[in-house]
Amino acid sequence: GKGVAVFTSGGDSQGMNAAVRACVRMGIYLGCKVFFIKEGYQGMVDGGNNIVEANWASVSGIIHRGGTVIGSARCQDFRERPGRLKAAKNLVERGITNLVVIGGDGSLTGANLFRQEWTSLLDELLQNSQITQEQRQKYPILHIAGIVGSIDNDFCGTDMTVGTDSALHRIIEAVDAIVSTAYSHQRTFIMEVMGRHCGYLSLITAVTSEADYVFIPESPPFEDWPKRLCDKLEQERQAGQRLNIIIVAEGAVDRTGKPITAEQVKKVVVDNLHQDTRITVLGHVQRGGNSSAFDRVLGCRMGAEAVLALMEATDDTEACVVSLEGNQAVRLPLMDCVLRTKAVAQAMADKNWELAVELRGKS
Ligand code: ADP
Repeated sequence: GKGVAVFTSGGDSQGMNAAVRACVRMGIYLGCKVFFIKEGYQGMVDGGNNIVEANWASVSGIIHRGGTVIGSARCQDFRERPGRLKAAKNLVERGITNLVVIGGDGSLTGANLFRQEWTSLLDELLQNSQITQEQRQKYPILHIAGIVGSIDNDFCGTDMTVGTDSALHRIIEAVDAIVSTAYSHQRTFIMEVMGRHCGYLSLITAVTSEADYVFIPESPPFEDWPKRLCDKLEQERQAGQRLNIIIVAEGAVDRTGKPITAEQVKKVVVDNLHQDTRITVLGHVQRGGNSSAFDRVLGCRMGAEAVLALMEATDDTEACVVSLEGNQAVRLPLMDCVLRTKAVAQAMADKNWELAVELRGKS
């Protein structure tokens, strides 16, 4: 059977294990030899015990677990050609010519580059007598299928990334808990939510928790936001509300591009309204815990589709990313989605928020 390897790379997210499990089982079902690569690209570069054959049972009992049981890492070596040369050798030695990469846009970019370089890497390995002529001819192409694992929902091309729904569950549980204590003491709570370039988690949290105000990177507030914020909080209290909730995305900025922090918001509230105001930074709790039913199903569907895509790939099939589009699993050109995602980040860096929102809306 064909050699398929699956690995997780970059930031972890809930649901990655469900995707890994589906890749392994769909691969075995289709008669492939399936491998885990542990610790992301680092394991691919280092080889040895980091690349192990998987079997049906080795992915039992992981579907519900957060994070990734096969480990993830950032890897400097893979950014340089010598590192990718070692990685190529490790794959060829094991007969692996199909990769499922589960990660963010960085990991997907690396995979695409690897695919493009594959022929020249193998030529170099052959020249150095590190692989045989037979191996060189047997593995002409490296097929790639990507799955986006990210709690931020920050990738263009898919309606939801694997992990976002579980992170929202964690956040909402935390906000609900805070609301009950805030209610008792008539407090104002400021919650900092993850999302450096993407306000999705913050926005959905705000809508579903009846927050009074939300700060997100894509839509910086008007210059007079301190006054607008205080007016709104006061208006809600006058209407009989006993508490106020303000959500601040980790990457929130003002219209000059300067960060808006929870501390800064607190100062505005305390100085102007003298309310009893507390900050809660949710931090890594958001990435943790068991995956939601949605993320488990999403991981399963993405994993199965990724392996199917690899098996159906021909010599001129581009690297693809498996995406959710209107509740359908679809295959999109990987680099196209990565470039669109990067264009959104660039538009925000350029303080062109209208363009950023427009580009993100198109995906
Ligand atoms: P994410 O995948 O979550 O966006 P990173 O951007 O940190 O996370 O990327 C994860 C890993 O992918 C990096 O540590 C590196 O090994 C690899 N990678 C990222 N970008 C590239 C690139 N341009 N070329 C080669 N490898 C890359």
